[in-house]
Amino acid sequence: MKNYMKRDSRFMQQYYALFSDENIMSSHQAYYAALAAFVKRNNRYFRKEVLQNSRLDMLIELDPAVYVNPETTLSLETEKNIVSQREYNKIGGLAMIISSTLWELAAVPTSNDCPKINQYTMYYVLAKQPNGKIHFLEECEQCGYLMDSYGNEYEGLAGIIFPATREEIAIHLSKKGIL
Ligand SMILES: [Zn+2]
Repeated sequence: MKNYMKRDSRFMQQYYALFSDENIMSSHQAYYAALAAFVKRNNRYFRKEVLQNSRLDMLIELDPAVYVNPETTLSLETEKNIVSQREYNKIGGLAMIISSTLWELAAVPTSNDCPKINQYTMYYVLAKQPNGKIHFLEECEQCGYLMDSYGNEYEGLAGIIFPATREEIAIHLSKKGIL
């Protein structure tokens, strides 16, 4: 294990300190902002490839006030008591955990299961393509399967996937007559 990944390194101490900060651990938005700030502040460890592989490059730029889902089921108590106890051998592992936490705070689950395996949650996402086109889709949390609002597999270019905000979801579904 690299020295900087050890629990008592200056880098990891910053991470573990988040969990004992009452101001951070009392609100989903504050927790999101603190994790994103921790990643940004430590870009000598969270290098570009690490950020891209974990989608953190997109997630750390989102405005928590806009993106954090007020109905998220993520438990701050669990984060405080259990996630804070975990240790990581590699920066990539820590990046994945932070990424899935930020995703769970921001993304809104749909009522569908992934059709590939009939389990796992689908989330509402926007796929923003390099040419500016935006597709409103559902994405499986486990395998990344993408489908449109009518349940058809999406086979186009995914581009960059963003969690859809509750406002975007409401607008989209009402346009389609689904809501
Ligand atoms: Zn799936």
